Amino acid sequence: MVTAAIHRGTPPDPPKSVRILIVGGGYVGLYTALRLQRRLKAELARGEAEIVVVSPDPYMTYQPFLPEAAAGAISPRHVVVPLRRVLGGCHVVIGEVTSIDHAKRTATLDTLATEETGQTEQLSYDELVLAPGSISRTLPIPGLAEHGIGFKTVEEAIGLRNHVIEQMDIASSTRDPAIRDAALTFVFVGGGFAGVEALGELEDMARYAARYYHNVKPEDMKWILVEASDRILPEVGEEMGRYTVTELRRRNIDVRLETRLESCADRVVVLSDGARFPARTVVWTAGVKPHPVLAATDLPLNGRGRLKCTPELAVDGVPHAWAAGDAAAVPDVTAAEPGKETAPNAQHAVRQARVLGDNIARSLRDQALETYAHTYVGSVASLGLHKGVAHVYGRKLKGYPAWFMHRVYHLSRVPTFNRKARVLAEWALAGLFKREIVSLGSLEHPRAEFELAAGGKPSGYPKGSS
Ligand SMILES: Cc1cc2nc3c(=O)[nH]c(=O)nc-3n(C[C@H](O)[C@H](O)[C@H](O)COP(=O)(O)OP(=O)(O)OC[C@H]3O[C@@H](n4cnc5c(N)ncnc54)[C@H](O)[C@@H]3O)c2cc1C
Repeated sequence: MVTAAIHRGTPPDPPKSVRILIVGGGYVGLYTALRLQRRLKAELARGEAEIVVVSPDPYMTYQPFLPEAAAGAISPRHVVVPLRRVLGGCHVVIGEVTSIDHAKRTATLDTLATEETGQTEQLSYDELVLAPGSISRTLPIPGLAEHGIGFKTVEEAIGLRNHVIEQMDIASSTRDPAIRDAALTFVFVGGGFAGVEALGELEDMARYAARYYHNVKPEDMKWILVEASDRILPEVGEEMGRYTVTELRRRNIDVRLETRLESCADRVVVLSDGARFPARTVVWTAGVKPHPVLAATDLPLNGRGRLKCTPELAVDGVPHAWAAGDAAAVPDVTAAEPGKETAPNAQHAVRQARVLGDNIARSLRDQALETYAHTYVGSVASLGLHKGVAHVYGRKLKGYPAWFMHRVYHLSRVPTFNRKARVLAEWALAGLFKREIVSLGSLEHPRAEFELAAGGKPSGYPKGSS
């Protein structure tokens, strides 16, 4: 027995597990994790690899559907994809990475428990994928922080929908022309995808909703798009951008090019062209900047705060660190002019994530890495129900065909069969029934009713005070 034990020797060390930490559960985070789940299936099963996804929300947001969610065409739950359900082979941690010491292979994070315990968590890793995306790029404009709202999250999209309908209710219930005017004036700053689509969809929704108000007519509302450059929607090219301006103006939307927001203090909007008017809605969609957590790492950033990356999606000069999407400055190897980076959009984010997942698997197996190369194929944008604009693969489309293409394209792109089926069912039902025009702003203050009944000071009252 003893001899046998000696011959067998000490038990072999358990296989070393490689921990891959993915920061962010958006486009890049989700698609990289999905790819790794597939590429490292055997290693995950044998316990030789572990994938940890850290995300502040338990879901990935399909941002191109936010304008339709704001218009009520898609319910909020269906524009998000639950991470835990689709990432069965990963550990999903709900939290926010606050800093990274890559030299020590350690990330510090705040979890939901941090607020109560006051303790941050430390997470060690072997491979790092940084995909925290971007945040709204704001300017120090008076009143903006107090009264502006962004359009990047599902909470903002639904909050804005409720807010717009609430403004119509306020206008409908007052005879004071000043309050009415301010309530019915909606200002969108920034003529990119987010601003134009959000404005197009919400104006369309409000125009429809107006038929149910006895004293609010579509022509009573002022919808204003403020853009600092001389064109909008650069993603669909110059000609289609010009068409979009004409189309929006035909709908009585006031498109102001080469104009900037100078102030919205005290809910009075002041523009650089001298215009000055009261408005209770200012939507800020004037671009994005890389997430600030990137500055809390020891990784190299370029002048605009994005992570310096190689065409293989590795962080430049840093072993075992990878990045893609809005947070990464990836050289565009398909561009004619040198030094160009891939644009921050979903088209690149999804494709980069797949190459990134493959390259991590390849590097773990000591195989050669793949180069990311994708030529931008153009874009589609919705401007409201049955209205759109597109410039894809050199083909230009307007109106209904572009809108239809927008829906087909995004239905094919939204992750999971479950979400595709639900969104399709919603669109089909919308063809049979009237549009939803209800505001559920009170959902934001679920305790207000009970607080009132219990004699306390209710939070969130009076309604419409936001
Ligand atoms: C309204 C709107 C419409 C759009 N429409 C289009 C379109 O039609 N076509 C197109 O190509 N692009 C579109 N885009 C752009 C596209 O959505 C982005 O380019 C894409 O989401 C970038 O992917 P990402 O993974 O880099 O970032 P995101 O998808 O934003 O994901 C980042 C993730 O990281 C998480 N995160 C942030 N900080 C931390 C942290 N500290 N720790 C952990 N996690 C963190 C975030 O919560 C988020 O889950 C649109 C954007 C918006 C806002």
